Amino acid sequence: MYVASVTESEHRITIDAMVDLHNSFADDPSFDPRPLLSDVGFSRAPDASAASMNRVGQRMTALGDFLADLPDLDAEDAAARVSEELTELPITPSIVDHGGVGPHIHWTPPTARFDDQMMADVMMALAQEICDNGTIRFGTCAATDCQRLFYDATRNRSKKFCSDSRCASRTHTADHRRRQASEAS
Ligand SMILES: [Zn+2]
Ligand SMILES: [Zn+2]
Repeated sequence: MYVASVTESEHRITIDAMVDLHNSFADDPSFDPRPLLSDVGFSRAPDASAASMNRVGQRMTALGDFLADLPDLDAEDAAARVSEELTELPITPSIVDHGGVGPHIHWTPPTARFDDQMMADVMMALAQEICDNGTIRFGTCAATDCQRLFYDATRNRSKKFCSDSRCASRTHTADHRRRQASEAS
């Protein structure tokens, strides 16, 4: 059986959170990210200031075009942009053991603003992803009228639709109707 290491699963959670945040802000620029960030384990999210949450929105929106383009970018271009973003962040790594999850790396000091901490986590996860897989695991939903980004963690990279289950089902229904129509004609 394949067991993901703690680091690997943390990486996946952060990448998935980045994708969810991106899609949510693309749908609605006034989206409140606090519940999502709390859910995925950003322990400072429940108490972070409203100003920090606003900055999360501004910063994710500023990255929106880049993240939307990820599936089409080659690894070098994506790496260049991520490196540029990393230089803007107050990254000072340390090993921390808290919250009963065992020792892990914090990329920012405890004094960092919440939005800096979150952006550092996201950008470091994205940096790792680009080093490991380039951009091949990012895709855009294949459903008509859906531009959502997804991360494909399947072994054979078979994912075609975003996490909204309606996209897969309405596409299959449409295909089915098309097939029926062509059989009838
Ligand atoms: Zn921690
Ligand atoms: Zn979709």
